[in-house]
Amino acid sequence: MAKQPMLKFVKIERETPEKRDATVRREDFDEIYAEYADAKAKEQSARCSQCGVPYCQSHCPLHNNIPDWLRLTAEGRLREAYEVSQATNTFPEICGRICPQDRLCEGNCVIEQSGHGTVTIGAVEKYITDTAWEEGWVQPIAPSQERTESVGIIGAGPGGLAAADVLRRAGVQVTIYDRYDRAGGLLTYGIPGFKLEKPVVMRRNEQLEKGGVHFVLNCNVGEDLSFEEIRAQHEAVIIATGVYKSRDLGGPGSGSDGIVRAIDYLTASNRKSFGDAVPEFDSGELDATGKRVVVIGGGDTAMDCVRTAIRQGAESVKCLYRRDRANMPGSQREVQNAEEEGVIFEWLTAPKGFTSEGDTVTGVMVQKMRLGLPDATGRQAPEVIEGADYVEDADLVIKALGFEPEDLPTLWGQPDLQVTRWGTVKAEFTTGETAMPGVYAVGDIVRGASLVVWAIRDGRDCAEAVLNRLNGAGAVAAE
Ligand SMILES: Cc1cc2nc3c(=O)[nH]c(=O)nc-3n(C[C@H](O)[C@H](O)[C@H](O)COP(=O)(O)OP(=O)(O)OC[C@H]3O[C@@H](n4cnc5c(N)ncnc54)[C@H](O)[C@@H]3O)c2cc1C
Ligand code: SF4
Repeated sequence: MAKQPMLKFVKIERETPEKRDATVRREDFDEIYAEYADAKAKEQSARCSQCGVPYCQSHCPLHNNIPDWLRLTAEGRLREAYEVSQATNTFPEICGRICPQDRLCEGNCVIEQSGHGTVTIGAVEKYITDTAWEEGWVQPIAPSQERTESVGIIGAGPGGLAAADVLRRAGVQVTIYDRYDRAGGLLTYGIPGFKLEKPVVMRRNEQLEKGGVHFVLNCNVGEDLSFEEIRAQHEAVIIATGVYKSRDLGGPGSGSDGIVRAIDYLTASNRKSFGDAVPEFDSGELDATGKRVVVIGGGDTAMDCVRTAIRQGAESVKCLYRRDRANMPGSQREVQNAEEEGVIFEWLTAPKGFTSEGDTVTGVMVQKMRLGLPDATGRQAPEVIEGADYVEDADLVIKALGFEPEDLPTLWGQPDLQVTRWGTVKAEFTTGETAMPGVYAVGDIVRGASLVVWAIRDGRDCAEAVLNRLNGAGAVAAE
């Protein structure tokens, strides 16, 4: 009888890939985790208990068939593991790197619940697909038959790219329009290289381009090309524009120089990593080198900013958040990484205004907070502690308070494009259909700021709905 390769969680301890030492990794923008060696990936996969009802899978937005690809990895059948993994996920190597597994699959693994430490699902997922790339198993899309219909996608982030992948595989002609000069959306210009190295994203863009996806870059829809023009050129249009309007801060001094938006700061840093000329960085405006940096916010964007500032050589980096550690929205894993790298967190603090000399910021006027009674959402609301204000010295203040959608109906002159009261596009959740015939929407522009894995899920589901429409109704001309 064949030896049972699985259920090793009692004998084998959980082991993540080696994490580079904080003193070394804070000097560069490379990813912080090494790759598993083959034997380690097999060994760690073998810890899975092959649950009959796998909670890891049911808590994955893509319903990835995790137990099967873990078993195949443990058995050394890596190519098959890759086939199973990519059947439900367009970009497994990206999810393996940046999904908050502690809140999704790994957080729900029964082994974790039983106190043995979760199966390291994300690291194995990354290992499988990185191997697939190395071995040449990931090939450009080659549809068995070309179709005449075309679909226009506005936005080349993970939502738009995932939809493009499914549509191209079915032979549909796909054009993606994006206002940036590189595809990838926040994968390219938002998320820093120490979480997701840029060649990992660029090779996916190239794979899609080689597979026949047509990219129209540097094209700001609504300015360089109208929404009507795009609609007239395609049988269906998918809006995948993400959310980019930064929430702002008021108070005295809030207009001072040296107070910047997180998205501008991170984009400049990522552009520098590509070797681009970035005048706002070179002038020092968006460069933290030698500065006392204060980042305001407690989400993943704030974590990316503090860790970027450390790598740029800031004199000090502090993060102000109005709730405590247990109640912050960002991943605990990222907070720990940031602390190891030298970031100081000032929990239960909120900005009231800014001090300045001339036009330039010199500090943040900070109010101390405590957590009061739960509000309507069940979260404890922060309350000000009177008389405890202080000034936190700062040369650079980065606002990372979250993102809201841009006003697309106005920007694009499309009053019929319905939006919610939060400004997100109203779309049917499983198909992405909007009230405008042939117009769909996916990702953050529908959900509000969310996760890469949800954008991928939306893009894939929407592409299936578009295919149904094309198959059912033939070439449906845009109205
Ligand atoms: C700093 C930061 C860190 C994050 N870290 C993580 C993480 O670790 N894990 C995770 O799962 N999620 C993370 N997220 C969230 C994740 O990046 C998003 O949920 C995801 O990228 C949304 O995908 P999307 O395709 O909807 O939009 P986006 O990725 O935002 O892509 C939208 C694209 O549309 C283009 N566009 C917008 N308007 C126009 C227009 N008018 N004309 C043409 N093109 C246009 C933009 O240029 C962009 O390329 C992070 C977000 C940020 C900001
Ligand atoms: S929940 Fe954990 S043990 Fe169960 S199938 Fe998923 S990875 Fe394996």
